[in-house]
Amino acid sequence: MSVLEVNKLNKSFGGTHVLKDVDLSLEKGETMAIIGPSGSGKSTLLRCINCLERAEKGKIILDGITIAEEKNGITEYLPDEQLRDARLHLGMVFQNFNLFPHLNVLENLTLAPINVDHVSKEKAAATAMDLLKKVGLADRADAYPCELSGGQSQRVAIARALAMDPDILCFDEPTSALDPELTGEVLQVIKGLAAEHMTMLIVTHEMGFAKEVASQVVFMDDGRILERGTPDELLVNPKEARIRSFLDKLL
Ligand code: ADP
Ligand code: MG
Repeated sequence: MSVLEVNKLNKSFGGTHVLKDVDLSLEKGETMAIIGPSGSGKSTLLRCINCLERAEKGKIILDGITIAEEKNGITEYLPDEQLRDARLHLGMVFQNFNLFPHLNVLENLTLAPINVDHVSKEKAAATAMDLLKKVGLADRADAYPCELSGGQSQRVAIARALAMDPDILCFDEPTSALDPELTGEVLQVIKGLAAEHMTMLIVTHEMGFAKEVASQVVFMDDGRILERGTPDELLVNPKEARIRSFLDKLL
């Protein structure tokens, strides 16, 4: 069964039609990479899936729960409380980490489990330490975000998202704010999660990484999904000339 189904999703900002009939389906354990030129709507798609933005048209089903559905030509969302619960199935990792600057690393990881999931402080801290070990940062539990490198910050952000035990982890260009020498440590963590069959949706410009980690790749252009396929189909032998020229420019 699909963990995530998106049907004919449409989103506009003012008069700008940004997402145009986007369909997406993600199976449990699958890693999907979303690639495409800047401004094609990749971030907006992730933000709509996370309900940080609301689509005007289309349907979103998360873990079998219909969170947004078109009625009389307009998309209606679940009531706030139910939507908040449904959104807990999703984790989000942003380009700029978005760590809480006034909290140390451990507190960044335990805040939501304690306050949202009502996990005990001790249990939240134990889980957080396990996750920090997993991302190689157990020795930085007491550090503040300003004391971390970009690569460390992003690894903390990944651990923080995992602390809520999401069914799907979404990444929006997780390495594009990093110095090149720091991208490897973050990609390595994501590769480890893929090997453990974490379900992931990753917007990325790192084609080598997409090829290695993704089971499915979709190419977005001007608010539409232009082509989808396996990494080999899409990144090595795309049908669309538009994709070929996009890939050639990255070389
Ligand atoms: P990508 O992530 O592929 O670079 P985005 O989803 O960020 O693309 O943006 C797609 C289009 O939507 C762009 O034209 C952008 O200017 C516009 N857009 C995105 N967010 C907003 C917003 N909050 N208000 C107005 N326009 C927006
Ligand atoms: Mg973007």
